[in-house]
Amino acid sequence: MATMMDVLRDRALELSVAADAPREGNWRMASDEDGICWLVLDRPGKSVNTIDRSVLEDLDRCLGLIEAQKPRGLVIRSGKPSGFAAGADIEQFVGAGVAGIDAMLEEGHRVLDRLAALPVPTVAVIHGHCLGAGLELALAAKLRIAIAGASLGFPEVMLGLHPGLGGTFRATAVADPIEAMTMMLTGRAASARRAKAIGLVDAVVEERHVANAARAAVFGDLRPAAVGLKARASHLRPARKLAARQMRAKAREKATPETYPAPFRLIDLWEAHGGHPDRMRQEEQASFAALVESKTAQNLVRVFFLREALKGLRDGASGIRRVHVIGAGAMGGDIAAWVARKGFRVSLSDVDVEPIGRAMKAAAKMLEATLKDPLKVRDALDRLVPDPGGAGIAGADLVIEAAPERIELKQAILRDALARMKPSAILATNTSALPIAELASALDDPSRLVGIHFFNPVSRMQLVEIVRHDAVSAETLRRATAFVTEIGRLPAPVKPSAGFLVNRALTPYIAEALLMVGEGIPKERIDAAAERFGMPMGPVELADQVGLDIAAEVSQTLRERLGMALPETPAWMHELIREGRLGRKTGRGLYEYDEAGKPRKLDLDALPDGSPDDPALVDRLILPMLNAVVACLREEVVASEEIADGAMVFGTGFAPFRGGPIRYARERGVDTVIARLRELEMSHGARFRPDPGWDRI
Ligand code: NAD
Repeated sequence: MATMMDVLRDRALELSVAADAPREGNWRMASDEDGICWLVLDRPGKSVNTIDRSVLEDLDRCLGLIEAQKPRGLVIRSGKPSGFAAGADIEQFVGAGVAGIDAMLEEGHRVLDRLAALPVPTVAVIHGHCLGAGLELALAAKLRIAIAGASLGFPEVMLGLHPGLGGTFRATAVADPIEAMTMMLTGRAASARRAKAIGLVDAVVEERHVANAARAAVFGDLRPAAVGLKARASHLRPARKLAARQMRAKAREKATPETYPAPFRLIDLWEAHGGHPDRMRQEEQASFAALVESKTAQNLVRVFFLREALKGLRDGASGIRRVHVIGAGAMGGDIAAWVARKGFRVSLSDVDVEPIGRAMKAAAKMLEATLKDPLKVRDALDRLVPDPGGAGIAGADLVIEAAPERIELKQAILRDALARMKPSAILATNTSALPIAELASALDDPSRLVGIHFFNPVSRMQLVEIVRHDAVSAETLRRATAFVTEIGRLPAPVKPSAGFLVNRALTPYIAEALLMVGEGIPKERIDAAAERFGMPMGPVELADQVGLDIAAEVSQTLRERLGMALPETPAWMHELIREGRLGRKTGRGLYEYDEAGKPRKLDLDALPDGSPDDPALVDRLILPMLNAVVACLREEVVASEEIADGAMVFGTGFAPFRGGPIRYARERGVDTVIARLRELEMSHGARFRPDPGWDRI
């Protein structure tokens, strides 16, 4: 449906550049009655503009024409309703070598320099997303006008890169350099208003004023945004050195130069050459080309495509508008709130009213924290209806059961729900460990039941496992998968097998850590080692986060149902559970938690001298996780290495710069990993025995 914005934009474009205006490949070009040339980026057959070699080559030809025509000015904008441009076409970076990238950048720089040097006023009009290379293109114009609602950013750092088409020196030259650096270092986007405040754009206007604003820019009535004195001073060498030191310290809080070199390279680049565009241009190009080839960037690019692959599992729309959730506990409440946040009408029931009240409070908190805008929070809360009697079941298109993990109870709830549901509606269970086929066997029509396994906390965990069983219909699976993508989550289809993929892989990681704690290795040392490897949270802290009672239960289930050779849950842990020290949820577990819910950890330097350690510590934690993923591939719990790696990155946070567990094994060498597992089997026990599935990796 066209919005008012689209209509206005189309009209503005119609006035300047008709859809049948002469094309230069990816660009449309026309002159208006004021003698201003309008150049519209509108890649044929694509809903979003990305910047690649062909866009720049076509731009080069356009610039040739413009140099010959000598218009009064040039306005560049996008013909796509979605925005100006989404950045560089990432495909070009896959497997790219330094030489190829260097040549591509050289050519790209030449074209953007040509644009920057045009002897006429040039202005970029920016609406919607303007990211990465798109923003670098806009920065090569002399002025920038943003349309209210635009979002500008440099997301390159998330791919292990920094801007490579002039962004490093143009952004720091036109905007407050510290702010520009912060944008490049964090990848965080800026709103139009914020971009104006820091000098990245020169004006913010409503769409209906674009033609006038562009004219004003061309005829000299729009002054470039003035960068303050303080900002200018930060270009001076001593100020740069000081700022660079602070930036490095901040970057180190999140990553190390060995694992994520890009932010550190960018800081070096600016510290050494800030304020000298020519030198920065050269160094930017060399540094970018080297980064593209780095393992980190190649793996992060892979992770980008893994995300796309999981999203791409969606086939059509779910047709779901109303959702009912049964069970308002830790998971049900969270699921209901998230689904409402994503625009669905949700009703929430429970046997007790108290959990519903608690869930509504928690929902308000989560919505306020993630939505910020009070109107949006209110709308989302309006969509979430407490429904103690379960009246919403009859009108729901999807019913999600999140009741306690007891088979007879769940069977009864599912049977009752199905009897009350519309014939077109589908039914889901959030069970973590119960055999879904047994749940399905209790139903008159098992084809309508699917597992939709969310992770805790739902608002932060991107992955959702979609669990099939023999009797589920393809249509139920299709709709469940589509629904998961519609609520902004990534679906990973899995076969019904204890622990599915994610819990099966995480359990040995946690169990081994608990064993190490029993060996006297300080828990802080264990967690720090896992975090250094790239896990978002060490296994000891993760055990507390999951809950020691639940961790012990899952471990037991996997041992019984799969015969997994997991270390026994130590007696001292059973003792903690008996004492009610269950982890973060009770304020005490393996760690003590402060009021903000943060664990109190000792500094590594404060650990007692000579406290036990194990040189094999990291391998003991990580390799069993890899072994479990390989077992899941062998048993076809997941269908492909891509889904396995994607699910582990998005479901457990497995070091993204390593590209996923299987990619990591391949990079380290599958034979090396197998040999190491054998060594550990000899030294530490049968739980390290390499899975037979390694033969096929
Ligand atoms: P919970 O105990 O916090 O919540 C369960 C809720 O269901 C309670 O509020 C309870 O009052 C309610 N309930 C009990 N009987 C009911 C009935 N007959 N009808 C309606 N509601 C009823 O449990 P949870 O941690 O939210 O787990 C729920 C499900 O989600 C389980 O199947 C669990 O395996 C799964 N799960 C849990 C997690 C987790 O980390 N907690 C993660 C993924 C999946």
